[in-house]
Amino acid sequence: MTFINKNIYLDFHCHSVKPRDDKFVIHSLFLHEHQDFIEKENLLYTIGLHPWYADKLSEYETIARLEEIVAKKKIIALGEAGLDKIKGAEWNIQEKIVNIHIEIAAKYNLPLIIHSVRAHNEVIKMRKDSRTENSWVIHLFSGSEEIAHDFIRHGCYLSIGHHVLDKKSRIASYLNKLPIEKIFLETDDFTIDIEDIYAKVAGLYKVDLSFLKQQMIRNLNVLLYG
Ligand SMILES: [Zn+2]
Repeated sequence: MTFINKNIYLDFHCHSVKPRDDKFVIHSLFLHEHQDFIEKENLLYTIGLHPWYADKLSEYETIARLEEIVAKKKIIALGEAGLDKIKGAEWNIQEKIVNIHIEIAAKYNLPLIIHSVRAHNEVIKMRKDSRTENSWVIHLFSGSEEIAHDFIRHGCYLSIGHHVLDKKSRIASYLNKLPIEKIFLETDDFTIDIEDIYAKVAGLYKVDLSFLKQQMIRNLNVLLYG
């Protein structure tokens, strides 16, 4: 299955799906909830134990559920999982849970969607220490240009969300200096239109909207199939 040549909006990371035919959505599910994988065209899934809920399942249960879902081939990536210094479970629990995701994603060569809030340096260190080669995607990234390049250098993609719509945001000021092959665009759980993000990002990179749409699908193909 490849998605090349589709002139469609890819929303790389989204928690609630409003069915639309002109959008390709990667729906991010929470492992501690029992959510359905509804088979539908233009809909793919990732699942992970989010750091806000990292204490909702034991380590054993986290591993068992992830292994079962991976075996059923219902997901295209693991996550979101990660580290959050503002909100969520105790730090050591967050670390244990994200490390489980890192190991399982590497074992099955699946991409890993990372939630990182005030934890970019720790995530880069985890990436280096893990010596894994499967791709990671830092979702809703809005950090500094230096950190952005550092992530990309270490084999990560950056998924960009609502921050870029703010003229004064850091990410809008330097985004066009990042390789467009390493970028995804997302709504996350914000009530914004993915179309607005594409329009803004096309302007920043000075590319046509249709080029940007095809580029995001190309990026997804490379992420999933190399
Ligand atoms: Zn999310």
